[in-house]
Amino acid sequence: MREIDLHIHTTESDGTLTPAETVRLAHELGLRAIAVTDHDTAAGYPSAAAAGERLGVEVVPGIEISTTYHGPVHILGYYIDPQSPELAPVLDWVIRDRDERNRRMAERMAADGIPVDYAEMQRRFGSAIGRPHFARILVECGLARDVRDAFDRYVENGQRYYEPRHFLSLERCISILRASGGIPVLAHPFQYRLDEAGLRELIECAMGFGLEGIECRYSGYDASQTAYLLSLAAEYGLLPTGGSDYHGAPKPQNRLGSGTGDLEVPYAYLEGLKKRKGM
Ligand code: AMP
Ligand code: FE
Ligand code: FE
Ligand code: ZN
Repeated sequence: MREIDLHIHTTESDGTLTPAETVRLAHELGLRAIAVTDHDTAAGYPSAAAAGERLGVEVVPGIEISTTYHGPVHILGYYIDPQSPELAPVLDWVIRDRDERNRRMAERMAADGIPVDYAEMQRRFGSAIGRPHFARILVECGLARDVRDAFDRYVENGQRYYEPRHFLSLERCISILRASGGIPVLAHPFQYRLDEAGLRELIECAMGFGLEGIECRYSGYDASQTAYLLSLAAEYGLLPTGGSDYHGAPKPQNRLGSGTGDLEVPYAYLEGLKKRKGM
């Protein structure tokens, strides 16, 4: 029986199940606990927690923040307090920055006759709107076959409607997560195309900023990759975590709780986080 899943997106960012629907699915799958880790927002937590109370699923508050360190690096934060004076204004800034970038993208699409209405997108989508949502609209109006095709031809860096946004530095991200009571964890370590020395440099640098954990179990990571990451966690004294990066329809290969099929995240990983929090 699968136990937990600590990396999940909902409709508050680019997932397609609402927080409550996600908890319901977790309950049907027999999961004991999940963490909601939307991009740049923790707005899904209250409704997920309420559904978790009803169904007996433990719900952990979380977030996933995109940072830069030579290239993009994603940091998960667990048990954050999104209202804290350290985190709240920074999340506001990230969402405002997204909003400005999104308006530029929408204007340029509208100027080309694409029926995109940003006010409507704000009503329809959650707190952290981004390129995945524009990609969905491009699919819906028949300009792309699927979201990937929409990225490749319209919104990927270098394509016609790409507009940049700003990112927190790795250092600032980790330090504000810590300041808000959160536990910062390096997400999907093999996503950054680093060789072993590069990954160690990233880990050591991030630990200098306050990193406390590393995602060792992840959709598509095989047994030897997981064993390697667990050995790094042990060597550096980092807490191991794991999750599917479930998004619903946009990433159907990442299934809740089981990832691409063989993902299994033990409850002991969550106990490690709770112990660190003094819970
Ligand atoms: P944004 O933060 O709004 O610029 O959008 C970035 C998000 O788009 C990432 O978190 C990915 O989930 C998604 N994404 C990036 N590139 C692709 C791609 N080629 N195909 C599908 N999704 C993508
Ligand atoms: Fe995403
Ligand atoms: Fe990520
Ligand atoms: Zn994610």
